Amino acid sequence: TKGKKLLDYFTENKTLNKEFILYILGLEKDDPQRNLLYKASSIVKENFTANYVSIKGLIEFSNYCSKNCYYCGIRRDNKTLKRYRMTEEDILEAVEKVKKLGLDTIILQSGEDYFYDDDKIIALIKKIKKLTKLPISISIGERDFESYFKYKKAGAIRTLLKHETVNRELFEKVNPDKKYEKRLGLLKYANSIGYVTGSGFIIGLPGQTNSDIADDLLFIRDEKVIMIGIGPLIASKNTPYENMENGSITKTLNACCAARFVVPNSQMPVTTALGTLDIKTHYDALEYFCNVVMVNITPDKFRKNYNIYDNKAKIDFFETIDELEKREIKICPITTKALGR
Ligand code: SAM
Ligand code: SF4
Repeated sequence: TKGKKLLDYFTENKTLNKEFILYILGLEKDDPQRNLLYKASSIVKENFTANYVSIKGLIEFSNYCSKNCYYCGIRRDNKTLKRYRMTEEDILEAVEKVKKLGLDTIILQSGEDYFYDDDKIIALIKKIKKLTKLPISISIGERDFESYFKYKKAGAIRTLLKHETVNRELFEKVNPDKKYEKRLGLLKYANSIGYVTGSGFIIGLPGQTNSDIADDLLFIRDEKVIMIGIGPLIASKNTPYENMENGSITKTLNACCAARFVVPNSQMPVTTALGTLDIKTHYDALEYFCNVVMVNITPDKFRKNYNIYDNKAKIDFFETIDELEKREIKICPITTKALGR
């Protein structure tokens, strides 16, 4: 069968070619091959990674955004949204919480908000460095190459910048003011100066084909990006895409499965978008292919307005621990120690 041929190809090459990626992407929900390949993917994860789930703390420090991505609920033109910026004090308090819980990375995320200019971001990174040795990851959108260099020098060592789609025409259609060259260039640049770099893409963009998704995976592999976030599009209210269909959950899982074969040692966060559409599937993904979960540390009074999409799931630390333990999925040793296990 094709599934068997795929596994032989993987065993020989430690990756997949486009033909096999397309095969996985096209598997229907009830195809028995799907179960088989998901199980095989969990074996790849077990053998090529540290084989535990890392839990990272997400601090969404501002929902102001100067960009207008058509799918995103915090886009500039959404005037119905109450905007907020966390103060430095608020952010440092959240960092203390990340430390106390024993999470393994601090992720600073925001809309593209230039109120936090380079000086403010650098000062913030340095203050966090004084509080903790935990790795700092930034997810703040497109800044100058030079800025990314300075953040690295100040102490940020990871970055998350999804390429969204590698199909240029589609990219320009859905991101009216994200710049294709700049974004992909930044990703390559960040990788080249030693950031642990994360990228990713959205499943279900209008007109997107399986061939586009396969190209996304090959791009990630060829650029040697080590973190891969794959999430379904969620049609958010008060955006031009509010009446669109959500991205397919099956296709998202198939893409995660293919990603595990394409880059076997990758760090693969399960996206909050998947958790928002179906929380059970979010944990299934952690069983089969994903090995990172980002729990939400943003204080509730701010978090409720960080709605890049409606009813965004709160990925809660203690609920995550309970469910992972129930499913006997191993958790990162730092966190286990902090929990006193
Ligand atoms: N502003 C920064 C940027 O765009 O890189 C970081 C924050 S942005 C909210 C993080 C990610 O959210 C984007 O890369 C995009 O893939 C995802 N996103 C935004 N709106 C979404 C939606 N409606 N459905 C699924 N993912 C979405
Ligand atoms: Fe802004 Fe990022 Fe949302 Fe685009 S995806 S509107 S850049 S927050």
